[in-house]
Amino acid sequence: MAAGIKELTILDNDTLSISNLQRQILYKETQIGREKVLAAKESLATLNSEVEINSYNEYVDENSVVKYIENKDFIVDCSDNFKTKFLVNEVAVNYGIKAVIAGIKDFYGQIITIDPKKTACYECVFNRPNISDSKDGPLPVIGVTPGILGTLEALEVIKTSLGLPNLENKLLMVNLLDLMFNTIDLVKNPNCFCSK
Ligand SMILES: [Zn+2]
Repeated sequence: MAAGIKELTILDNDTLSISNLQRQILYKETQIGREKVLAAKESLATLNSEVEINSYNEYVDENSVVKYIENKDFIVDCSDNFKTKFLVNEVAVNYGIKAVIAGIKDFYGQIITIDPKKTACYECVFNRPNISDSKDGPLPVIGVTPGILGTLEALEVIKTSLGLPNLENKLLMVNLLDLMFNTIDLVKNPNCFCSK
């Protein structure tokens, strides 16, 4: 937003609660109880009034997400569960839209950028968890972790758009406890759906 991205579409169906404020840096105490998409739009509009912001109070699933991807250049995953991350990856690959996906836990994060059909996708790297066997949802985090990984996602959008070095075919592992950043080189899996 601050970089002057022309248009931003936000999709989420949650309302803001006090427990979100410790880590979700976009929101303020005065916005508790409001739809997150509207609170986010309100906060971002005060940052740059020239950016067009579309907000939709809808749960991110296979039906909702495809309604809003036409003419989009990038999908940024800000979800807190594996199901949505795999969905974002699948939609990005199937519709040929670049994507950045990040995950967090405690002091740790991982982030990958995907150029569909060309680079390794999220599913080339991670196996789909069996959701029915495991609890899928927010993992505990130190409050600053999402903000740092979210800023790195914004950096990836900017760098990828400018053709600068990015996290395509690389997985960045962020360790905020020891303050270490490591990248792992990735290769596209020929057996993954993105290679077909
Ligand atoms: Zn793949």
